[in-house]
Amino acid sequence: MTIGKIIDGKAFAAGLRDKVAEGVAAFAAQAGRKPGLAVVLVGEDPASAVYVRNKGKMTVATGMESYEFKRPASIGADDLLDLIEELNHDDRVDGILVQLPLPAHIDESAVLAAIDPAKDVDGFHVVNAGKLATGQEALVPCTPLGCIMLLKDELGDLTGLEAVVVGRSNIVGKPMAQLLLAESCTVTIAHSRTRDIASIVHRADIVVAAVGRAEMVKGEWIKPGATVIDVGINRVADTEDGKGRIVGDVATAEALAHVRAITPVPGGVGPMTIAVLLRNTLVAAHARAGLAKPDGL
Ligand code: NDP
Repeated sequence: MTIGKIIDGKAFAAGLRDKVAEGVAAFAAQAGRKPGLAVVLVGEDPASAVYVRNKGKMTVATGMESYEFKRPASIGADDLLDLIEELNHDDRVDGILVQLPLPAHIDESAVLAAIDPAKDVDGFHVVNAGKLATGQEALVPCTPLGCIMLLKDELGDLTGLEAVVVGRSNIVGKPMAQLLLAESCTVTIAHSRTRDIASIVHRADIVVAAVGRAEMVKGEWIKPGATVIDVGINRVADTEDGKGRIVGDVATAEALAHVRAITPVPGGVGPMTIAVLLRNTLVAAHARAGLAKPDGL
């Protein structure tokens, strides 16, 4: 039995952060200032606080300025919109990221729509989604952009390959499908209403699973030699110490007997997301300063 390759997303992300750091130094020399990323955290959600702390540390490690804005869960929608407006007009800030989810009383889509599309480093603004869909230069959501980087690194030219994306969210599934289409793949999007999902996945040369269901994609669904990108992050409570473990949307151990290559969970797509966020911030800084997009990013 042959065993597929495990794609090392952690190492790829570290390489990408190194390239970003080089680009930051070159930008600072040209523009006379560092690129800046502002992260807005509303409320006390511990997981969100950890993400924001990590983002801040990595932003500083690449040589960029990191600005953190912590607000209580009780903040009014108007006050949050005022903060976004301030950041939109702050010249030191090239990227604005609002950590999701927001408290229930705040309309998430109104907050995302208030971000200047030129500073929308998460790529969630409808202007950026529309540009991506129509093949224009856009700020693209970090997780799917990270997935396409891993795929191109593994497979080279993706032209003509059959790709199946499982999941149709605005932050992963839909932009992922657009990116694969832009690479001239033949793309199918599967979701919770899809019939006979196993046989649809079995057609694919590339499978991207972004569902949020532990090990839903079974090994026997995978066509021999396919490349699998597992976006899912699911906690399962089946360990003896009661701490549980993190698994993806793909049954990795089974899949390894079928795949050419697969991203592990953890250590696959996860580390790419923050690295691409830093990349997007550097790209936004160049565009705002009227400079050409840095090479190799
Ligand atoms: P959403 O919950 O927004 O979307 C899930 C999608 O999966 C929906 O389109 C849903 O279909 C589909 N789905 C649900 N059940 C099934 C099923 N049984 N069969 C087929 N499709 C199904 O999740 P996200 O897109 O935000 O995230 C997906 C996963 O990726 C999560 O585990 C999340 O934690 C992880 N993630 C990881 C990131 C990283 O950095 N590695 C970043 C972002 C997300 P329908 O639309 O019909 O309801």
